[in-house]
Amino acid sequence: MFIEKNYTGLYIHVPFCVKKCSYCSFYSIECDEVLLTRFRSTLLAELERKTAGINIGTVYAGGGTPTVLPPEFWSEFLSTLDDVADTSDVLEMTIETNPGAVLPGVLAEFRKAGFNRLSIGIQSFISGELKTLGRIHSPDQAIITFNQARDTGFQNIGIDLMYGIPGQIPDNWQSNLKKAVELSPEHISCYELSIEKGTPIADLINNGELSKPSEEHCREMYFLADEYLKEAGYIHYEVSNYAKGDENISRHNSSYWNRTPYIGLGPSAHSFDGKRIRSWNVCEIEGYLSMIERDRSPVEETEELDSQEIALEMLMLGLRWKAGIDIEEIEITTGFRMNEQYLDRMVRSGRVKVSGSRILPTTESMLFADGDAANLIEDLPKDV
Ligand code: SF4
Repeated sequence: MFIEKNYTGLYIHVPFCVKKCSYCSFYSIECDEVLLTRFRSTLLAELERKTAGINIGTVYAGGGTPTVLPPEFWSEFLSTLDDVADTSDVLEMTIETNPGAVLPGVLAEFRKAGFNRLSIGIQSFISGELKTLGRIHSPDQAIITFNQARDTGFQNIGIDLMYGIPGQIPDNWQSNLKKAVELSPEHISCYELSIEKGTPIADLINNGELSKPSEEHCREMYFLADEYLKEAGYIHYEVSNYAKGDENISRHNSSYWNRTPYIGLGPSAHSFDGKRIRSWNVCEIEGYLSMIERDRSPVEETEELDSQEIALEMLMLGLRWKAGIDIEEIEITTGFRMNEQYLDRMVRSGRVKVSGSRILPTTESMLFADGDAANLIEDLPKDV
């Protein structure tokens, strides 16, 4: 399993969708032609401003729904990137899409624009579940979009699935996993539905019109995915992510987990220098557009992480993915040592393994990464 850190990832947040899903708390609004036109110009300006001379290793167009911008725009975007940044090491260029948000034939154009990986937000193959989530597509459209992507030459396709949907039982989840495996994507993400305050689905749950599956059922579905997908030849390399072999692990997302630097473009996008500094853009579209149109930086806030925050973050991220985390690296970077008693307990109970200086999580411990991370550095002296 690779751990690369010698490049910068580029993330582009396109904050437009055809229609807002009932559970979505990401910053996105419904498509508006005037705003989309302005957004195209500001995104190119921000690209030039932030990536000049930078060694970019991965590109990820997400959102929102980045395929609401036409392939010609992405061609121009990627050729501008080639002009301003060092793209000689680019390994992976991903664009997200949703079934129902792409016209037949258009996927070939995104491929031609330069994207070599497609991530499709399928979420479920069951009509009732898609309806509960407020998705705009049907199960058939999901399969058609996947097959079109394959036919147009995408050899690296990821699909997103969701469990913990109101009304879902483990049998439904198993049938979704079965359909996913039949399509044979290179990558499958399985996210538990998180109910965020203020979303329509949260209101329906609060009113008693819907109910979320119990924690026990959600945990059962997590382990079911682990078992089913491993059996089908996928490796469970991160708490929510499965790949058909190491070569299909999402390199861009791995940047977040191993603290590789990344640059974010678009409203609400975050950037990180790979060490201590994190910043994020203004969230709301009008504010973002007008800052760039006035030749001002769209960065809203910058924070500098202290050593304890870095140690905690390294542990939380490291305990969530198969490559684990190097204890010596944490000590050298932050001065924090591990709580050996707690680590011993974790090892003795079989929750993690230790190999050399690395802590390696198990399927079970990936679920408890946040709590374990806090306990592992709790109350320890700060050396730097
Ligand atoms: S398609 Fe994705 S980003 Fe857009 S509303 Fe639905 S969940 Fe949110």
